[in-house]
Amino acid sequence: MTEFNIRKTDAIIVGSGPAAAACAKRLTDAGYEAIVLEKKQLPRHKPCSGILSPRGHRFLIENFGPLPKEILHEPAYCRGVTFHFPSMKSVVMGFDGGPTPHLHRKPADAWAMKRSGAEVHDGTEFTGLVDNGARVEVTAEKDSRVLRYQARYVIGAEGPGLAVVKAVYPNYPQQIPWFVVGQKFHAVTDCPLDDDYFHFWFHPELGHYTWSHARDGRQIVGVGFLRGDNFDARHGRVLDYLEKKHNVKLGPGEDTEIVTANFGPSLINRYVFGKGSVIITGQSAGFFNMIAEGMSVALHSGAIAGEAAVEAFRYNGDIQKIYRSMISSEVRRCSDQWNPLKILFGRPHEADFRGELKKHKPADRLAIIRDVFSFMRLYSPLNWGRQIFWQAICRQFFGHYSPSRWL
Ligand SMILES: Cc1cc2nc3c(=O)[nH]c(=O)nc-3n(C[C@H](O)[C@H](O)[C@H](O)COP(=O)(O)OP(=O)(O)OC[C@H]3O[C@@H](n4cnc5c(N)ncnc54)[C@H](O)[C@@H]3O)c2cc1C
Repeated sequence: MTEFNIRKTDAIIVGSGPAAAACAKRLTDAGYEAIVLEKKQLPRHKPCSGILSPRGHRFLIENFGPLPKEILHEPAYCRGVTFHFPSMKSVVMGFDGGPTPHLHRKPADAWAMKRSGAEVHDGTEFTGLVDNGARVEVTAEKDSRVLRYQARYVIGAEGPGLAVVKAVYPNYPQQIPWFVVGQKFHAVTDCPLDDDYFHFWFHPELGHYTWSHARDGRQIVGVGFLRGDNFDARHGRVLDYLEKKHNVKLGPGEDTEIVTANFGPSLINRYVFGKGSVIITGQSAGFFNMIAEGMSVALHSGAIAGEAAVEAFRYNGDIQKIYRSMISSEVRRCSDQWNPLKILFGRPHEADFRGELKKHKPADRLAIIRDVFSFMRLYSPLNWGRQIFWQAICRQFFGHYSPSRWL
């Protein structure tokens, strides 16, 4: 391998997803140079349903401008989410403020990144770092060559790959449960599921995360479960269920996409935010909203990471301290979505579950609530129940989630 000269810059951002784009925008707007390292060539494929929350939609428009039609799938919008339950009841919820765009992640992420104004080094994989306090030495690899960078701060926005997280906390990936999330695309023979909605099943026998929606003339069917199980068998079970219970008739699955995901830290307030001059944001920090909606929280947490870096530059402050203080608002917003007390007595989501539930007859309401509780039991092997409950109590008393649980 050949070594090249060291490239000096203000900040290195690892990844080019929504968290990275938002972070880069904050830095470049404030006049700092940010270099983005992305291991894939841009535009890069990203397995994702592309359903954007209203908050994510607003963020994109306000920060990057009107969304061009080229970055949208067909249907170009999503009206909201439909929850389906084993009792065969369904709750249909429109997003607050109306439909949101159905993003095509490949062009959409490249579009946002371009508009961030950062210098992008794609096909360049971050491989390691040494934090010297005043500077961080970063190594990366491009076409089998070693590249060297030197930056004041490094922001890890590398999604579930956790490359930067591992550079500062090598054992972290072994300490969390991993989920397999996969989807197949199907030609549609007959599909009574409403194309305007994202469909999610609270069914413990199907999986931890079971979904379907229309895209570009085909139907996506996906399932997520704890790592260690067989994807094709799980997926086949969901297809059988959809045919038997919802009269969904689909052709064979094509273009299978399977990823592993660090789903969980936001449920139990176990985020990882970095060390020294290295901060972590987006999905790599553990941010995931309910039903695995991760783009809006990636955008907002990424922007906060960028703002923290700008503030640390300006006042020569401790970036960890600044970031951890600033990010607590996003932690509140994200973990509230999983907090049973907030769900029962508040309004943590951008769709009105309780309002829609109230429209059902009392017996149906009871059946749905029973179904939700039996779904939660799926998570008991992870020992999350007690942690979720305790975090909910602390949130109620102290008004925030304790930073002492963050790495
Ligand atoms: C099947 C599926 C469906 C989903 N559906 C939705 C949805 O409908 N709505 C929603 O909001 N969210 C959805 N999500 C979640 C959403 O995709 C993520 O939460 C979101 O993309 C996280 O953004 P990010 O910027 O943190 O990371 P990412 O978007 O994952 O970006 C990380 C980037 O870092 C790069 N990278 C990784 N390692 C390195 C390295 N060593 N060096 C350089 N670059 C590196 C990756 O190539 C990638 O481009 C879905 C996820 C899955 C798996």
